Amino acid sequence: MMKKIFKGIVIFAFIGAMIINSFLNPSTASAASASKANNLKELRAELAAYQAKMNAAKQGSQNAQNKINSNKNSITAAEAEINTNKQKIEDSKKKIEELNVEIKDTEEQIKELLRSYEVMKGDNVYLDYIFGATSVSDFIIRCSISGQLASYNDELVASYEAKISENEQLQIDLNNREKQLDTQIENLENSITSLGEQIRQFDSEAVKFEDEVKATQESINYYVKQGCKETESFDSCVSMRSDTGFVRPLKKGVRTSNFGYRGTNPATGAPNDYHSGVDIGGNGEGTNVYSVANGRVGKIVRRSSCGGNVVYVYHTINGTKYTSAYMHLLSIKVNVGDLVTNTTVVGTVGGGAGTRSYDKCSTGPHLHLSLGTGWYGSTYVSYSSWRSHLVDPGKKDYVNIPAKGKWFYSRTWN
Ligand SMILES: [Zn+2]
Repeated sequence: MMKKIFKGIVIFAFIGAMIINSFLNPSTASAASASKANNLKELRAELAAYQAKMNAAKQGSQNAQNKINSNKNSITAAEAEINTNKQKIEDSKKKIEELNVEIKDTEEQIKELLRSYEVMKGDNVYLDYIFGATSVSDFIIRCSISGQLASYNDELVASYEAKISENEQLQIDLNNREKQLDTQIENLENSITSLGEQIRQFDSEAVKFEDEVKATQESINYYVKQGCKETESFDSCVSMRSDTGFVRPLKKGVRTSNFGYRGTNPATGAPNDYHSGVDIGGNGEGTNVYSVANGRVGKIVRRSSCGGNVVYVYHTINGTKYTSAYMHLLSIKVNVGDLVTNTTVVGTVGGGAGTRSYDKCSTGPHLHLSLGTGWYGSTYVSYSSWRSHLVDPGKKDYVNIPAKGKWFYSRTWN
């Protein structure tokens, strides 16, 4: 029993840790992350952070490049040393040859001297040398010199041999040094390869942060232009400007279905169907869909089986919160958290061939526009709450869409 409970606790803790971990490490897959700043001061801090990261990436790239250059210099120096050492080995070999010749010569001389030394005890033509002495003392000196020379030449041979073994040792040392330098060069080349990889990573990071810096700078310019104060919240600032109403989400179109209860759902065939918005046809797939007012992207649903790709935008119009929803989109052009104006393209018209594979609630290309009070996903979260907050977006007070079957050709006028 205890074991079972313990196992349960472990699994629970594990799942908990995974959930916490997923919050701490949000996916970095999307290129431009939505800003969390809610006023200019915070946005400027974000900008400074992006700039710092961008500069760090650039510096990292530069440092790696410097290291590569220094490694290349070290390789050149090592190769030069190898060449010098090869020359030294050649010289050393020649030196040994020379020393061998010297030894041979010296040994010849020794033999000769020993022969002349030997004659003191017997007959020999070299007696001439000894007996050619002019006096007794000269005779003794000559005998003595022959002996001394022989032993001196022995020493000479020994010193030559020492020099040969010195040179042999030098060659061993130089060969070892060459192996050492070869390893050094190999290590430096490997290091250059990994530094190159580092540079690529730093450079792509730098580009990413450069994009963030640009985007953040643009946002700052936008809010400054709107007259936002440094610590005034964007919600208050953006809603306070002349955003007192809605405009149409398309440049032209025709209402094809009304808001509210309608007979049978044209796509699913369900009876007594409640239609959560107004359908606008007359535009091909891929036509730009604009936000109906200034605001902030609050929620995005992708590839829903009924509604397809949906963007929800939060607005504050004359102090009242609204959420507008754009359904059956072929593509989504914004991210959650993006601040939008009524000229921002939030997505493109879908609902036809481009979205049919997953969106089962559309019969052809059109935009479904919903409008509800409050911020769906923030003020409340359930779909039933959203349903209960819906209003008819087609009304003149709201988005003002001409009656069913009538076309419009502007975002503001009939
Ligand atoms: Zn619809």
